[in-house]
Amino acid sequence: MTHVRWLSETLGPRPAGSQQEEEAARHIAGLLADAGLQVDIVEFPILTPRANGATLTVEGVKDRSFSTAALLNPGAGPVTGPLVDAGSGTGGELSDGSLEGVVALVPKGEVSLITAALNANRRGALGLVVYNDAQGPLADPLPGLLPIPVVGLSKSDGEHLSRLLAGGAVTVTLGDSSQASVSRNVVASTGGGGDAVIVLGAHYDTTPESPGANDNATGMAILLTLARELAQRDDLPVELRFIAFGAEEVGLFGSIHYVNALSERERGRVIAMLNFDSTGSGNLQVAGDPLLLRRIAAAAAEEQGLSVSTAREIPGTTGDHVIFENAGAPVALFFADDLSRIHTPNDMTAFIQPRHLGETVLVALAVIASLTP
Ligand SMILES: [Zn+2]
Repeated sequence: MTHVRWLSETLGPRPAGSQQEEEAARHIAGLLADAGLQVDIVEFPILTPRANGATLTVEGVKDRSFSTAALLNPGAGPVTGPLVDAGSGTGGELSDGSLEGVVALVPKGEVSLITAALNANRRGALGLVVYNDAQGPLADPLPGLLPIPVVGLSKSDGEHLSRLLAGGAVTVTLGDSSQASVSRNVVASTGGGGDAVIVLGAHYDTTPESPGANDNATGMAILLTLARELAQRDDLPVELRFIAFGAEEVGLFGSIHYVNALSERERGRVIAMLNFDSTGSGNLQVAGDPLLLRRIAAAAAEEQGLSVSTAREIPGTTGDHVIFENAGAPVALFFADDLSRIHTPNDMTAFIQPRHLGETVLVALAVIASLTP
């Protein structure tokens, strides 16, 4: 709990690109070095949404302001085009036909925002406007560096646009909301004899208002504890790589940068990626690759006498493991199912169950042992 307290109480919110985020990176690097590991701090450029979010303006409409959510715009500059209702139901189910040269409007639906954005891009859309299908603003972050600008709207703003569309042609401009800054991954490794690599990861940044005790000082504390436990194990037939990811909350920039920098061969070396994110409240769970999950459950039961509840998929959430999964690595996400306080000022140490941290460390150690016979 020392690490959780330091990150969430001493340091507090550490949003991507901030001085606090940088301070967290240096602190984490120091602890990994103290454990006896070779540590690299790897900087990368990021785009963060400005506080007032992206901009959406409707031609000929001056007195209506749209409260846009802080969805990432890829920095491609403003785009202007006719708005087209591109389907209903789910954001991914864009209606058939080309969206060449238009800005697509869709309700959020079941499909992830990234999928909706990729679908719209494939059909030639200039940009995408996604509106919430529940009350309140739409604030889910998107993975960075999307091919087209994406702007999120509240349900009422989205419905307002739909009504305007029903009344005749509407031309919209999506403005660039992003701001360039720098974030960092902290990478440490045990070396190790064999060709295989196990990546152990956790992000250390937070959303702007949140002290991030659960999301994700808990995951960071687990990673640091594992690093201390395993730092000297250069006798293992695999390399253990500990990665503290920056800029997760604004679009998985850290994991994207890390994976993009790996060659095809280097990607193929990763036999497992274990991600620790928000493990402090509710019931502990592991989700991800079915084979890896089975192995995790078996290893935990056999070596530590622990039972692990596994979920195939976690609805509505994303994380750095997704990027490794897309690159072909078997991944597992360790989390706990009460995510009600994350991304709020209430994500505080008081709501963390310390037992979860120790238990997750034990399960992770058992899995690593089973992967390194
Ligand atoms: Zn998180």
